[in-house]
Order: sequence, then structure tokens, then C-alpha cells
Amino acid sequence: MKILTRKRTDIIDITSRVNSQIQKSDLNDGICVIYSKHTTNSLVINENEKKLLSDVSKLLAKLIPDGNDYLHDSIDNNAAAHLKSTVLNNSLAVPFKNKELELGRWQSLFLFEFDGPRERNLLVSLVKCDNFY
Ligand code: ZN
Repeated sequence: MKILTRKRTDIIDITSRVNSQIQKSDLNDGICVIYSKHTTNSLVINENEKKLLSDVSKLLAKLIPDGNDYLHDSIDNNAAAHLKSTVLNNSLAVPFKNKELELGRWQSLFLFEFDGPRERNLLVSLVKCDNFY
């Protein structure tokens, strides 16, 4: 699944695109694994609320500021992006039932971009499973 990010730091809700992949499949129930093949972005589950997403961006920028004498910046000037990616996830596993992600009322899936704009490649794998407890 290709995702185009629009700016250096970007947050993109990928929930509907992942649900579309599930709907196109021949599986009704299972586990959906979303995996990012990159080192400067992350996959996150949280609420799609504009002020909250802004707060998350602000927190990450405060914890891991740009230009902090990181050694990796001498290579391609994106150490902070790698560090943010390191402290978050680069994969998610979410159950789905009846061809729909089993998300809580306030949950959405996000791609967090830290070194955009770029074309990102996410792998979506669906594993058949119908024994949820
Ligand atoms: Zn780098």
C-alpha cells in the first residue's frame, strides 16, 4: 500500500485504506498486520482529533528536537526522524471481523511521517483467524 506524505512532519489517517484492503480480500475474520518498510516513520493507533494530533507532534518535537548534535545528521541530516521512529512502532497488528477492523470507538490508524514528503510503502498482511476471546 503506497502512501504519499505531504510535508516533513505529517500525520495521515490510513484507517479507511486498510479497511479497503480487507474488503478486497477473500477473508472475513482475522488479524491485519500493517508493516512499514522505512526507518523514519511510524505506525500509531490513537484518536483522530486535530488538537490531540497537534499535541503529539509537539511532544515528539520537544522530546527529540531537530539539530541536537546527533552524529547521524552528518550523513543525511535526519537523525531526529530516525529517533522518533525508533521510540514508536513500525508495525501494527489489529484484528478484523466481518471485513472491518475491530477498532474501539475513538481509535484510528495513522502513519506518522518524520522525514517527508516521501512515498511510503506499507505492507498489509491478512492472516485468517476466527478464534477471538
Ligand atoms: Zn538517515
